[in-house]
Amino acid sequence: TTSPPTFTLGAEFARALPELTLPWQAEQVPEPRLLVLNEPLAAELGLPAAWLRGSEGVRLLVGNHVPDGATPVAQAYAGHQFGSYSPRLGDGRALLLGEVVHADGLPRDLHLKGSGRTPFARGGDGLAAVGPMLREYVVSEAMHALGIPTTRSLAVVATGRSVRRETLLPGAVLARVASSHLRVGSFQYARATGDLELLRRLADHAIARHHPGAAQAEHKYLALFEAVVAVQASLVARWMLVGFIHGVMNTDNMTISGETIDYGPCAFMDEFDPATVYSSIDHGGRYAYGNQPVVAEWNLARLAEALLPLFADDQEQAIALAVEALGGFREQYENAWSAGMYAKLGLSGDAAATLGLIEELLTLLRENHVDHTSFYRRLGAAARGDAEPARELFLDLAAIDGWLARWRALGPDADAMDRVNPVYVPRNHLVEEALTAATEGDQGPLDQLLDVVSAPFDERPGRERYAAPAPKDFAAAYQTF
Ligand code: AMP
Ligand code: MG
Ligand code: MG
Repeated sequence: TTSPPTFTLGAEFARALPELTLPWQAEQVPEPRLLVLNEPLAAELGLPAAWLRGSEGVRLLVGNHVPDGATPVAQAYAGHQFGSYSPRLGDGRALLLGEVVHADGLPRDLHLKGSGRTPFARGGDGLAAVGPMLREYVVSEAMHALGIPTTRSLAVVATGRSVRRETLLPGAVLARVASSHLRVGSFQYARATGDLELLRRLADHAIARHHPGAAQAEHKYLALFEAVVAVQASLVARWMLVGFIHGVMNTDNMTISGETIDYGPCAFMDEFDPATVYSSIDHGGRYAYGNQPVVAEWNLARLAEALLPLFADDQEQAIALAVEALGGFREQYENAWSAGMYAKLGLSGDAAATLGLIEELLTLLRENHVDHTSFYRRLGAAARGDAEPARELFLDLAAIDGWLARWRALGPDADAMDRVNPVYVPRNHLVEEALTAATEGDQGPLDQLLDVVSAPFDERPGRERYAAPAPKDFAAAYQTF
């Protein structure tokens, strides 16, 4: 077996934490066909696109070519799903192929989704369909282009096999790249084994890989927890500012690195409303847009519980330390969100008047069913003196005119706004259109969508359709899952 000279797959995680891994092989794919390849990302990983497009490269992307020295594994983890605890989830249809060194010198996981059943599959078929894998590809790459920490997508390969869902669908494997796949649920799993040495080894691994500053702290495991609180507070603020709804914020879907992971029922919000839920399985609205900060804090409390024995020998003391550290979440989240809102409005911020203005705006956006992405971008034009594109999104013109006058008096910076308010996000109706066409064999709409969301702040002539709000009836009825 051969591979390009600059590319090797390590097995660090499998070596360091064998208790959390199960060596496993991907299912054989008789007729793999490359659908999309992320050439810039491939280059950053030392993988020449020409090799990846060849037969050995495509077989690597479905797990059927295993380079020398690699040890593909299914990872074990636990997790709270919609609030109830499952002691054994793990990669039921995924594999960690190994670690690759990125051009930045840091390791990345190369991971497959849809590569066949593993011992963690329970009732699942271990497979994935073309549509959802392309969905993860588009949305994760859009998030990356927006500057939001996220797993990346390297490729989607059609398997030529069908997958049974409500109907028969074409199957696919997604090759995904991440700083790591360590989750809150990884710590829950390690803690539940009762093996404190394992828990400590996992924490040391996470510190070395993601939060090396914690190694110098007096209480290094508390410092690890604080670092995760900080990256998650920042991440969820970024989601909120761009209108991203994760959709399934179970503790097994929250990373230790602070990257967004697991693009299943996620969506970008069309009309602004904190109660927005697109996932058909989220009956109670647990993971609604407006609940995301509270859910993140709840998940972090579960992480603290898992880490508790490492904080202090005395349990009372450990709990006191955990509570104090978790207490930092709200303030860090609020600060990140407020700073982001000032930036979206083109204001330098901090005035109490500005905070009042933000509260008032959110009420107006909700009451008028205003498209989130369009509003902020069009507000840039309003800062330049052309308020009409933003105004026309509102029914209550007197109210928005009053708000615009008070906002303009604060001297918003239009150019700064255009650098933080995207023109293009993967809007639900455009994603659906692209996936439907791709599933039927026409990849044109997907390529067009990828093109605009990959440079989301640059307005492109002739692409107005990609910047426009969804048809009203579509936005009202949309479900992701
Ligand atoms: P998710 O909701 O995608 O985070 O997945 C939750 C759990 O279900 C994880 O343990 C997954 O590996 C597993 N899972 C999801 N879909 C499948 C499938 N089609 N086959 C086997 N396991 C699956
Ligand atoms: Mg998951
Ligand atoms: Mg999933």
